[in-house]
Amino acid sequence: MCEAHHVIGRRGLLRGSALLGGAGLAAMVGGCTTAAPATGGGAQPSAAKGPVPSTGTHLVLLGTQGGPIPGKRAAVSSALVVDGSIYVIDAGSGLTLRFSEAGLDFKKVRAMFVTHLHSDHVADYFNFFSLNWTNWDFGKQTVEVHGPGRASANGPAGSPVPGLPITPTAPLVTPGLATPGITDITDLSVRANAYDLNERLRSTRRQGDHALEFTGLSGPPMMRPHDIAVPAAASIDVLAPKIAPIPVYRDDKVEVTATLVDHPPVFPAFAFHFRTPHATVVFSGDTTPCQNLFDLASGADVLVNEVMAVEAAVAKFDGTPIHDTMEIQFTSAHTPLHSRPAAQGRPAVPGVGAVARTVNAKALVLTHIYPGDGTVSDAEFRSSVAADYRGPVVVGNDLMTLDLAALAKH
Ligand SMILES: [Zn+2]
Ligand SMILES: [Zn+2]
Repeated sequence: MCEAHHVIGRRGLLRGSALLGGAGLAAMVGGCTTAAPATGGGAQPSAAKGPVPSTGTHLVLLGTQGGPIPGKRAAVSSALVVDGSIYVIDAGSGLTLRFSEAGLDFKKVRAMFVTHLHSDHVADYFNFFSLNWTNWDFGKQTVEVHGPGRASANGPAGSPVPGLPITPTAPLVTPGLATPGITDITDLSVRANAYDLNERLRSTRRQGDHALEFTGLSGPPMMRPHDIAVPAAASIDVLAPKIAPIPVYRDDKVEVTATLVDHPPVFPAFAFHFRTPHATVVFSGDTTPCQNLFDLASGADVLVNEVMAVEAAVAKFDGTPIHDTMEIQFTSAHTPLHSRPAAQGRPAVPGVGAVARTVNAKALVLTHIYPGDGTVSDAEFRSSVAADYRGPVVVGNDLMTLDLAALAKH
């Protein structure tokens, strides 16, 4: 029975893998659909079939794993494709490969947005550009990159290392620039890759007498980084004070705003809100549930939220020297799968389903899934969320493509 065809069509709502479904949403398997609690959740992803449609707003999940540890999923990154133009959100390890596997055209990339500077969100940042140089629209295409500036720009007065936690005995890498921002990372990456860049400029990357140069030395750069300015009231001591959304980027297809989220001890860490002609979508980044995210995501068509199955995550570090610090990180800096009651002086924390219900999102997409290795099955993620949230739920897998307007209408 293909009961969902009237909603999503044969190639519509989701391609590339099986899914999902909080409240009767159907899973599309092999061109047909099966009723909701069906098989989809635990299935491994397969490559997206055919090009992403050039009309509408589609979310392509390129990497869906939380954390930097290599696993079955690529680290987190997503592409939002709006009437054929591409906007990349985060650049975890695997972005460059998955982007190619998804059949996306680098020439269509207009902008990239980086939520924060943990390695699982930026490891493929410079690679994405330097490895795509033959796909660049030489001299015509400049990808605007928006991400965190230096944490120290808002560091508390008098701190010896503004922007970093105080652990006085810990050594620092490059203490003179201990918290480089996205502009610094870009500059430093160009320097670190000077041999490859210069060798190619002098040999293969040429057109007649002209060097096909992408760092901006002799023409428009391939990418242009921008540090997102944050209110002065925010710092590593006050990570996410209540703020109005920060305008970040606008063109004829999208309007993007950001807010500060609560991902201790990282500062700044952002969530992004996209308004397109077809849908509104919010990317939570990494955060414990916080008011700024609730405000940004209120009424959104689709909430793309990180999720952590905390007990299973902590158990992965049982018996290791970093167990205790990982437990603190997992319980204080991420969105749990299950709501947690107040205990031991700590406030209650809503689970990801409760977050989606609180903001009244029309649909929820889980990404940055941890553990993402099957320790907790996709079906378990889905059923746990369904206890708190009745809208459609997609448990993300790499290379899923979602029609966001269709998903929100389900
Ligand atoms: Zn992360
Ligand atoms: Zn993080």
